[in-house]
Amino acid sequence: MKKILVIEDQKSMALLLKQTVESHFDVEVLLAYDLEQTAQLLSVHHDISLALSDLNLPDAPHGESIKLLREAQITTIVLTASLDENLRQRIMKERVADFIVKDGPAAISYLIRALDLLLTNDQREIWLANLSDPLARKLVGLLSVHRFKLRVFDQDAALIKELAKTLPSLLIVGDKACEQDWLHHLSAVRSQFEFYQLPILACIDSVDGTPLALKYMKYGATDYIVKPFGADELYARVNQSIDLQRTYLEIQHLSRTDGLTGLNNRRFFIEQGENHYQAWLTNCAFGLLVDIDLFKKINDHYGHPKGDDAIRFTANRLKQFFGDFVVARFGGEEFIVAGECSNKQQVLALAETFRQSIEQDSEAYMGFKMTVSIGITFNEPSFDRLIAEADRQLYIAKGSGRNQVCCS
Ligand code: GH3
Ligand code: MG
Ligand code: MG
Repeated sequence: MKKILVIEDQKSMALLLKQTVESHFDVEVLLAYDLEQTAQLLSVHHDISLALSDLNLPDAPHGESIKLLREAQITTIVLTASLDENLRQRIMKERVADFIVKDGPAAISYLIRALDLLLTNDQREIWLANLSDPLARKLVGLLSVHRFKLRVFDQDAALIKELAKTLPSLLIVGDKACEQDWLHHLSAVRSQFEFYQLPILACIDSVDGTPLALKYMKYGATDYIVKPFGADELYARVNQSIDLQRTYLEIQHLSRTDGLTGLNNRRFFIEQGENHYQAWLTNCAFGLLVDIDLFKKINDHYGHPKGDDAIRFTANRLKQFFGDFVVARFGGEEFIVAGECSNKQQVLALAETFRQSIEQDSEAYMGFKMTVSIGITFNEPSFDRLIAEADRQLYIAKGSGRNQVCCS
């Protein structure tokens, strides 16, 4: 479990912070009320991920705790009772990750959002490209305080190659190379990835200012920052980009997923099938429809919640058996699987074992026995026809007494 050190001399505030943080995150909060306790805890715990520290403590009136945490290389959020411009600059010079003014309920929600990112940033990559050496060094220094994984690319070709394999949470680009060449690269990258898949932050020289920034935006950057910038401006923009990407990915996930089972939904299944069907056909394409038998009776006898259990049970079994293929909830108690196989017999055998497993295990899992009917077809001329023929086979299975696999 990750550890967070909270340093705060006001005990009620310290306890409130501990309770709030522990209720939101799976972390252990250690409390220190003064500098002496802080030093003592740091000497015992060498695995503290983050610290929240009051700026002034009774035995440390000049922010000594912040310096101590900096020496221990612990990412720190500073808590302060008030904030003016001088103090802000002084705090940020100490390489802190963020600061929070303790003046109301907004402070707590700000803290939660800041911690949410800082605790997970070690799983996020930020890539840096086309930057002068001093700017790259500055960014690496500032972003490591926020615990990001960082990669600096000296060669544009290497960047393009890596982007083909995996995407970072954010790409930060500068203006080191000749403008035309780099804008060309930028637009090539953007043409491959939607803006929410790959946010791009452009670092612009203040001499060139807004016109160049706008040009970067036209060629694919999602945001820009003008040099020289302060640490907190950089952090605000980076967090914004990461939030944007997170939110879009979450919405995308929701739009593709069935809420009851966690399987793909019908819309995403059809999108996948239409995109990949021709490729599947080069091998052997199959479509498989599964429908729970006499499901209305299950609902009527045991109630809707039990009916939902039956749907989830079938979905989980499908994931286990057909996880290598595209599996979706197609409608109420109907499921669909499609993909490519090397061997028709393999798919038929898998379907038959799946059917038996539902028949045999349903009672132990749910308290009543249930069965499924399955229709399968192979290599139809189009994806639509694949679904239609699997449905026809399913209809035959139902008409022939249910609890069986039919295939064409
Ligand atoms: P058959 O063997 O011919 O498939 O008969 P059936 O009773 O399974 O088929 P029918 O299509 O008549 O009934 C399907 C029922 O599924 C009707 C509908 O109320 C129920 N249903 C649809 N979606 C859900 C759901 O999300 N949860 C529950 N509990 N029931 C659902
Ligand atoms: Mg049914
Ligand atoms: Mg049905």
